[in-house]
Amino acid sequence: MSEDCIFCSIVAGDIPGRVVSETETTLAFLDVNPLAPGHTLVVPKDHHARLGDLPDDVAADLFAEVHALAPRVEDAVDADATTVGINDGEAAGQEVPHVHAHIVPRFDGDGGGPIHAVAGDRPDLSDEEMDDIESAITSA
Ligand code: AMP
Ligand code: ZN
Repeated sequence: MSEDCIFCSIVAGDIPGRVVSETETTLAFLDVNPLAPGHTLVVPKDHHARLGDLPDDVAADLFAEVHALAPRVEDAVDADATTVGINDGEAAGQEVPHVHAHIVPRFDGDGGGPIHAVAGDRPDLSDEEMDDIESAITSA
């Protein structure tokens, strides 16, 4: 637990949360400032700031819970679809430095965009640059 972390405090029961699901290693609760009815956050119970910090088993548990919960949330609020996303790092918009997956119910005509809308200007990459990026990721 990290003393000054709001999500650790919810996991510990020190501040209230609208908990919708709990497993041995994860907790899911409603976002206090929802983008849509049913907007849910799924967090590992242990404090880790970034996705890459998660141990393999916790990462697997986190995704298993997102997988189980997303259709349940969608049904519960009678949504038409769901966007799932993680802001991983400050430059990506992460405000709470405790890993969390957003489950955002989506509705026909809700005025929102696809995941593609989150990035800025699209880069114009040559085939050579794409090759270099492919190699860099493969060998990272
Ligand atoms: P992010 O920008 O990905 O770090 O998102 C953080 C999310 O946490 C935002 O959607 C906030 O509305 C939400 N949030 C902040 N404090 C609380 C809280 N006490 N309970 C539930 N959700 C919270
Ligand atoms: Zn934390």
